[in-house]
Amino acid sequence: MSESGNCHAEIASVGHRDSVKEAATRMFSHNVGCLIVTDDRGTFIGLVTERDISRHVAVSPDNGGGVKVAQIMTDHVVSASPGITTGEARKIMTEHRIRHLPIVDNGTVVGILSVRDIMGQQLLEDRAAAEEVAMLSKCLKSIDLAEAVEIVAAESPKLFDATNCVLCLYPQGDRSRDPELISSNRCPCVGGKRGHSTLSPEDGPTDAEQTKKVECPLFLPQGVEDVSSEDGYYDADIPAECRGPGGQPPRLVLPLDIVGLPEASGQEKRLSGYLCMCGLAPSNAANRELTLYKAKLTREIVIAHLTNATRYQQARLTSLTDPLTGVGSRRLHEDKLHEEADRAKRYKRPFAVAIIDLDHFKMINDVLGHAVGDEAIRKLADSVRREKRGPDILSRYGGDEFVLLLPETKAADALILLERVRSKAQQICFDQGMALSVSCGIAESLPETDEAPGDVMRRADLALYEAKNAGRNCVKEWNQGMNRLVSNGELEIERIKRLQRRVMGLSEKAEKVFMESIWSLVQALEAKDPFARKHSENVVAYAVGIARTMELGPKYVDLIHRSAMLHDIGKIGIPDAVLFKPGHLTPHERRIVEQHPMIAVRILEKMSFLENEIAIVRHHHEKWNGQGYPDGLARTAIPLGARIVAVADTFDALTSTRAYHESRTVAETMHLLKDACGYDFDLTVVVAMAAWVEDVARRLETTLDGLTTDDLLATIETKDTIPLPELADVVLGGTPDAP
Ligand code: GH3
Ligand code: MG
Repeated sequence: MSESGNCHAEIASVGHRDSVKEAATRMFSHNVGCLIVTDDRGTFIGLVTERDISRHVAVSPDNGGGVKVAQIMTDHVVSASPGITTGEARKIMTEHRIRHLPIVDNGTVVGILSVRDIMGQQLLEDRAAAEEVAMLSKCLKSIDLAEAVEIVAAESPKLFDATNCVLCLYPQGDRSRDPELISSNRCPCVGGKRGHSTLSPEDGPTDAEQTKKVECPLFLPQGVEDVSSEDGYYDADIPAECRGPGGQPPRLVLPLDIVGLPEASGQEKRLSGYLCMCGLAPSNAANRELTLYKAKLTREIVIAHLTNATRYQQARLTSLTDPLTGVGSRRLHEDKLHEEADRAKRYKRPFAVAIIDLDHFKMINDVLGHAVGDEAIRKLADSVRREKRGPDILSRYGGDEFVLLLPETKAADALILLERVRSKAQQICFDQGMALSVSCGIAESLPETDEAPGDVMRRADLALYEAKNAGRNCVKEWNQGMNRLVSNGELEIERIKRLQRRVMGLSEKAEKVFMESIWSLVQALEAKDPFARKHSENVVAYAVGIARTMELGPKYVDLIHRSAMLHDIGKIGIPDAVLFKPGHLTPHERRIVEQHPMIAVRILEKMSFLENEIAIVRHHHEKWNGQGYPDGLARTAIPLGARIVAVADTFDALTSTRAYHESRTVAETMHLLKDACGYDFDLTVVVAMAAWVEDVARRLETTLDGLTTDDLLATIETKDTIPLPELADVVLGGTPDAP
């Protein structure tokens, strides 16, 4: 820091007897704003400044020609000794509101400091300080948070010639917790250790845990409780706690407050703490103002850089973690796969990858809903996490697909592990007796070849394809034979996909037209029978009401909707005389009527897109006790959809007037249905029907006795056409109830 060496080298003076005009001329010729006034013996007796002269000229009519300097000069002069710093000089000048400060040595004026000089000097000093601090910016190249913290602790003390430094940041600024990041550069309070922690959750014990034993290294300047709003604190002394282990005064404390991105809680991540440096060089003490100015710049640079690094680390961590399960993301897998492939090639040691895919997962979503689907994915992730070994890396590869990267593992060993994973997955159960099952494909890397990392994944995918083809719920290891399947790279995948979409669009249109014409046929058929009018429409409404009450997924409800529309289509093949016969049927006639489910199957069987509807239509006259037709299926072997349509069908038959009976009330019918549970009907389905009926009664504020079928029908909006499933998008009706 400069001393007052910047004052005028040549000191212009004027005698006290000289005229004001002479003084003005001299000021002009010397280009100064102030002259030393001397007496006849040349002794310094005062100052005359531009301001004194202008004041005089303003009030005097003679332009100062006849007036002497002694009359206008300032004789009580504030002066300073040589060696005064610019900071001190500025302070004196501000205090006395003067623009010039003579520097006097033993009664002799050796220089004059002007405000202009001081400002110029300060500008130079500030610029030099800014340039010095800018060097820190240049050193802060790493965006890695832990590294950035280390660099700050290593470089900042150089700016202040400090001997010791420590940077310490606490999670959410909570100093009662362990520091989240700490980097010591010879700070005696942390035992001279250099340590840091990072935010990574998966890397085992963090450095923060290793530095836990270290006492909090920072003590606020005495008397200061909170310095968070300040740019920095210069402290001439250090606390006894620092002095004990070997800290040296003076010290500088820069409070740091880093605000990151919002976390899962919605709250922004905050890291607050301090950069503390002690044992500063004496020059810092000599010019505290400049030191604090540098501290302010340093603090701004450090905060800006650490904020960026924190946000970068958070963003990176987010992109590497799957938000649903907390295991690695696909991106993490890609990164680790490349690392592992490089390592395997270098050391000629193989690794294995295993792709794990849930079987018939769309069915879980369709039947139990997406929330349960998500739960299934989470439970599978937890289960695999428990089974895998420490170094194995688990990532979510796609919707219902996980991938395990198994370093230093041969396919045969991977097979044993994945068999265990497969069998554990089966123990994950859900409502309606549904359990998870997975198929796995394994491939071992070929480090001796120039295979790319993506190739081992492609081979694992082929093995998975084999496992799915082999009936699912199994693990397959890749072998040469599987290469007969052509790899995606050799096909025009985009063209295939485009055509697939067009075919899908065409078939959707065709299916819609088909359903519309079948539905008109059903209605035309029913129009002929005064007793069966609107029967299928009513069955659709009742079946949908039950299915929704059972909280089946929307796709499954749609499947039931379509099945109910089609359930009596086979009656087209029954002679009118039998179909519309008033009164009871003979046993032979009954057998004819009982053909209608199989006739429906024959009509519809070529429509592969109706595969699941056909199963429901076929079995809608099966009975829970196995005494129904056409196949005598019992209990859960009957597709769930068929059990629902059976209850809806009987409900409509009993509540409508038929040739052989009068209509019954809703309450009476529910009674009959309940009685038939365990014989004709599935108890779960009837319970759902009863719950729906009671719910409607409650909403209409009536009793069960007061409820009519119109009330029930009004609650369900039936559509003539409803979206058809994508090909192979729904499962066979019987599957949800697998025992
Ligand atoms: P496969 O046995 O052939 O694997 O049949 P799949 O039904 O499991 O079919 P596939 O693996 O092709 O389909 C995966 C399904 O996973 C498609 C999508 O409905 C579902 N899915 C994808 N991501 C999620 C998710 O985050 N949550 C839920 N609930 N379902 C998802
Ligand atoms: Mg799947």
